[in-house]
Amino acid sequence: MSANENTDGRLVVVSNRLPFTLKRAGDAWRTDRSTGGLATAMGPILKRTGGIWIGWSGDSSDPQDERRQKTLRRWAERERYFAVDIPAEVAEGFYEGYSNQTLWPLFHQFPSLLNFKPEHWQAYIEANQRFRDVVLEHLRPGDIVWVHDYQLMLLPQLLREAVPDARIGFFLHIPFPSSPIFRLLPRREELLQGLLGADYLAFHTFSYLQHFRASALRILGLDSRMDRLEVGGRSVRLDALPIGIAPGEFTELLEHDAETIARRDELRRRFEGRRVLLGVDRLDYTKGIPERFRTFRRLLKQTPELRGKVVLIQVAVPSREVIPMYKELRQEVDELVGRINGEFSTPDWTPITYIRRGIPPTELAALYSVADLAWVTPLRDGLNLVVKEYVACQQEGAGVLVLSEFAGAASEMGEAFLVNPYDEERTAETIERALALPLDARRERMRALHKRVVRNNVFAWGDRFISNLREASSARVDNFSEQPQALPVEEAVAAFRQAGRRRLLLDYDGTLVPYANRPQDAVPPAELAELLSTLAADPATAVAVVSGRSRGDLESWFGDVRGLWLAAEHGAIMRSPETMRWEPYRPTYTSEWKESVLTVLEHFMDRTPGSLIEEKEFSLVWHYRMADPEFGEWLANELVSNLEQMLADTELRAYRGQKTVEVKPGWANKGEVLARLSESAPRAEFCLAAGDDRTDEDLFARLPEDAWTIHVGDRRTRAKYCVANSHELRRLLARFAARTESHAAG
Ligand code: UDP
Repeated sequence: MSANENTDGRLVVVSNRLPFTLKRAGDAWRTDRSTGGLATAMGPILKRTGGIWIGWSGDSSDPQDERRQKTLRRWAERERYFAVDIPAEVAEGFYEGYSNQTLWPLFHQFPSLLNFKPEHWQAYIEANQRFRDVVLEHLRPGDIVWVHDYQLMLLPQLLREAVPDARIGFFLHIPFPSSPIFRLLPRREELLQGLLGADYLAFHTFSYLQHFRASALRILGLDSRMDRLEVGGRSVRLDALPIGIAPGEFTELLEHDAETIARRDELRRRFEGRRVLLGVDRLDYTKGIPERFRTFRRLLKQTPELRGKVVLIQVAVPSREVIPMYKELRQEVDELVGRINGEFSTPDWTPITYIRRGIPPTELAALYSVADLAWVTPLRDGLNLVVKEYVACQQEGAGVLVLSEFAGAASEMGEAFLVNPYDEERTAETIERALALPLDARRERMRALHKRVVRNNVFAWGDRFISNLREASSARVDNFSEQPQALPVEEAVAAFRQAGRRRLLLDYDGTLVPYANRPQDAVPPAELAELLSTLAADPATAVAVVSGRSRGDLESWFGDVRGLWLAAEHGAIMRSPETMRWEPYRPTYTSEWKESVLTVLEHFMDRTPGSLIEEKEFSLVWHYRMADPEFGEWLANELVSNLEQMLADTELRAYRGQKTVEVKPGWANKGEVLARLSESAPRAEFCLAAGDDRTDEDLFARLPEDAWTIHVGDRRTRAKYCVANSHELRRLLARFAARTESHAAG
């Protein structure tokens, strides 16, 4: 398979900035190394794949300067970092303009701060083209390209146009806004088209993913499933994959770095007898810093006992200061700090310690470790790394977390105190409650958070992104998106007749019989059992019904058909015609998980008149065929998104079927049936598999190239052939059977 030959291709990371920044120092050039999650995450992966990194150097001065060129050549040789040159006037429109004054405010739900200029847009296009050109210079067949963030949203499509079979993934590090907000964006169509050039598009949370899907539908008319979208004959896979941190970067400092340890001890002594509340943010209007200070003021006002007992340390790292909005914010915050400290300070206590600059990692780790409460309340934030860094530094700690529900991280941090930062009154109450929480309860919450932050670290995130991207692009390379051709019936009948040994693998619902409103009504007509019986009577033909149904259903309908293989629950349990015994694929399997999943399904059943829950041995299914179609689809998406979060670390998966959502173990899939069948039935020259839904694709994928794979219906499929409906398929089977009968008679 061509796709697999390529899976070892290098990784090409593309982001706005490289991990290095180029700075002029008099006549010479200096290289500053930036720390931060992405550089840490990509480093080991790049080493492993022998990959390269492409990005802007941060400098727009004379590209012809020889010493500058020499420095950049050294980056390329030693680190495999390749710089994109962006002239100053383009950089300004691209970065400070469209990226940070149009996309940033709108994507963070501040439409009133949006500032759009057509020339900024032109610069954005030009910068993206410059990135494309550098990628094309270095791209080799088989490479995978990982594009990062909102500055490069046109790049996937620009690359796709130049190299139609490139493997491209995109990760958005900021939120994706709800579709009514996204619609306000000037050049929204081009931006969506740009993203859709990717094979794999991932966001931090399911709600961002849902917003993206809604926008694709509203603006481009593109319908999608939860995990994929079809565009121009290609599939784009969608995913929610929250980024993590490298916990070791902080814990190493706290455990082994003398300076950090000394600093931590010093801070502890200094704040003895006081509770430390900590805020760490870039000085950005999305971070809710004025709101935090106003809330703190309210807290001190309404709870005088806290005066002298708490301090708020706020680190605010200046950023984007050339943009007027940021200057205004800086002024506003300066004034607020002055006012509050003026109002409440005493000779031996200052309520707010305000640090308006970046601090070194040693200082930051020490602060994270001594803080009793992390106050992380952005008005909107893609994810927020500070919250995870704080948790990482509270290994044995009892710190509490007060977190905005509008930070992407809120979806992973169930043990935090969630607040709406716009509601300053309630937030103040929550801070009070959090401070009053007994020690044991604090420890217990922190332990759970800590475990999760360590497990879902940035390395796991990077690995998952890359393996999902490889899979998504391989599926495309495998021509999954090509439409099947109508089944050439006579050819199939002739091939069946000529073959010495044959194998038929038949799905049940939607394939052998049409769907009924309720699953219990889709009972096979008597002639179907007869048809299967005739086919299975020929020892040269192995016939298997491979269904998602329970063994009870299959047994009651086809239990008496001699010679027939039965595979129930997508292959989780099978009956061979020789032993007639049902044998589970995983004999030691337990289904303790059902209770918690059932609670969720029941909630959806209650909200959806006409829907029902089916319980099987290995799975639970929510059926909504009788529900209002649009409402049903909408709820099914929501259900799958809830379940996917809930099941993320288990072997269980939630699958969309034909008007169903099914929760089952990932290993219970029809592809496995083939392996078990092959153990006892000899290889056949004629192999046919027919099915109508997603679960059958697993089987099609496992069959050899010369198999007759038949999709029943008109959906996208990897099958080679299609027939319109179950009647047509049964007519074909009847043609096969007629031969068997006449052969037997003759
Ligand atoms: N940070 C920093 N210097 C500081 C304070 C914080 O580099 O003086 C880092 C912090 O460790 C975190 C990042 O800045 O990794 C902020 O990331 P976050 O996702 O919270 O917000 P963003 O700035 O990306 O919007």
